[in-house]
Amino acid sequence: MSKFAELLFNLPVNKSFTYRNPFGDECTNGMRVKAPFRGRERTGYVLATKDDPPEGTFEIKEITRVLDNEPLFDDTLVSLGEWMSGMYMCSLGEAIAAMLPGGKREHLQDLYDEQTPVPDRFDLHSQQQKPLEEIISCQEGMFYLFGVTGSGKTEVYLRAAEHTLKEGRSVIYLVPEISLTHQVIEIVLQRFGDQVALLHSALTPSQRLSEWMRIRRGQARVVVGARSAVFAPLEDIGLIVIDEEHEGSYKSGRTPRYHARQVAMKRCALQKGRLIMGSATPSLEAYYLMQQGTLTAFTMEKRLSGGELPKIEIVDMRKEERPISRTLELQMRQVLNEGNQIILFLNRRGFSYFFHCHTCGYEMKCRHCSVSLTFHKKKNRMICHYCGFSSAPVQVCSDCGSLDVGYAGFGTEKIEQVVEALFPGRRIERVDADTASKKGALKHTLEQFKNREIDILLGTQMVAKGLNFPGVKLVGIVLADTGLQLPDFRASERTISLMIQVAGRSGRNMEDGKVIVQTLRPDNEAVRFAQKHDIQGFFTRELETRKQLMFPPYTRLFRVVFRGKDPVLTRNTAREFADELQKSLSGAGSILGPADCPIAVVSGNTRFQLILRTTSFSRSHTSLSRTASSFLPRKGIYIEIDVDPVALL
Ligand code: ADP
Ligand code: ZN
Ligand code: ZN
Repeated sequence: MSKFAELLFNLPVNKSFTYRNPFGDECTNGMRVKAPFRGRERTGYVLATKDDPPEGTFEIKEITRVLDNEPLFDDTLVSLGEWMSGMYMCSLGEAIAAMLPGGKREHLQDLYDEQTPVPDRFDLHSQQQKPLEEIISCQEGMFYLFGVTGSGKTEVYLRAAEHTLKEGRSVIYLVPEISLTHQVIEIVLQRFGDQVALLHSALTPSQRLSEWMRIRRGQARVVVGARSAVFAPLEDIGLIVIDEEHEGSYKSGRTPRYHARQVAMKRCALQKGRLIMGSATPSLEAYYLMQQGTLTAFTMEKRLSGGELPKIEIVDMRKEERPISRTLELQMRQVLNEGNQIILFLNRRGFSYFFHCHTCGYEMKCRHCSVSLTFHKKKNRMICHYCGFSSAPVQVCSDCGSLDVGYAGFGTEKIEQVVEALFPGRRIERVDADTASKKGALKHTLEQFKNREIDILLGTQMVAKGLNFPGVKLVGIVLADTGLQLPDFRASERTISLMIQVAGRSGRNMEDGKVIVQTLRPDNEAVRFAQKHDIQGFFTRELETRKQLMFPPYTRLFRVVFRGKDPVLTRNTAREFADELQKSLSGAGSILGPADCPIAVVSGNTRFQLILRTTSFSRSHTSLSRTASSFLPRKGIYIEIDVDPVALL
């Protein structure tokens, strides 16, 4: 009977705390408990139990409740947590908390219908056979399927997974955090039946917990899920798949700011398993690793679904008055008359983009954040997409009083209205975060689109990826450059990636699929290379630029954000931190800033950042880690550290 337990908390304090355990054997390593900590009852993670009291004389508090009846984590996961804690500069408690599902005691629930596994249907093409053979002939290694959309990457992942299961090992299959990837989930369920466990954000916390326990008990050996599924408590992982490797959702936006790709590499190295990543548009970092030979790359150039890659036509929107150009309209008519379908893609929700004064240039921004407000017609409000603040639309410039004001740009809601007017009688549906928030609505719409009950699907990111609709002949990108003006060195990379991904939805099953890209910057490099489907050409140019500017992949970055209500205090804290870091670095890296974050205010908090750039990662890492743990921020100032940041906004 262990009388004491060592607890970790999801707090930025990197140590465990001893508590009295009145529950005996009901409380063991790997369980979650409730215990008082600094005046509040918190969830604690039991790291160890022991009989002897700790040395020293201090009051030992008592565990109040045990939340689980079986352990949720074991030493393997704790070791991974220790690596995370070191790598991402968070506490072990924060790392463990990020891995575990948050649900209450499990309830058994049926997540999916009984599925009988369906065997493979077709013979592999040589561009699939070759990578598959090489991958399964190695027990471990890192591979990349650099293949155009529709080149049959999924089938390679599935066969590699089958092989891994036959070896008696287990599989993690990661998909991006967008609800639409349910197409992939269905395929995996079909192929592997009840050996599959799902871990993604659409599940309720207790469903996640229930799936987590099935995995731990060995009842499921294939885990499909988004980012955090990389922590699935599987034994003997023989394969991790990262589908759509370039996706931003693989990087966590909260502490610990881990990247699933980095964690997957670590897990594969620890467990001697294989890692297969794949995309038509790899991240530049991954592309660089392929060139270096760190990743074994396979190119897959042929579309197996039959269709050729669609032709991409560029329309210069500087000469257009309306958001749907004449060219796009004509193409749409033709495609609809032939009985085919259309996807229109736009990167912005809402009706119009922002309020703009033609006299003084004033833009209506959020009072609490420094981002422009978006007009939502149905609600008749200007809404902040960061904090949700909303205000009434105005007809007069609040800065100079001019009446010459307007709403520039356009969102999905606005386009919907324009398209409805142009094509009366056609069935048009909009898919974005506003419409998809209704449960099941998204799935229903996509189902309808697949059954050709909808002619035109209009949407944001959500329609961009992973979807496979045989009837789509035309994809229109309403405005390609919405991301280009962002002050982030990855803006071009993201833009071309998105354009090629969206284009890939067109003509999956026909010879003459088409894509029309409307843009205000027809001469932009990302736009020009996208037109030729030449992502490699873009990468070659972009690598030169990154080398000149000393940005990743030629350097590594760390980002430190300082956040607080008081701008002066926040800035001073950032300066002090920078000074201390400078001393500790002794030349191992260089500090950019501190400066305002591009999004300088969020929810009333000012934000400053410094970027540490380096070619000696481990020395800089050590310095930053030391500085961060010895630095005492002023009250009310919060410090966030991001190792290898992907967004700098
Ligand atoms: P990717 O994942 O590379 O985008 P998909 O896995 O979506 O490509 O494959 C595109 C289509 O080709 C799918 O409809 C798939 O069923 C089909 N397909 C895959 N492999 C083959 C094959 N060897 N022969 C015929 N069709 C195939
Ligand atoms: Zn004005
Ligand atoms: Zn706001």
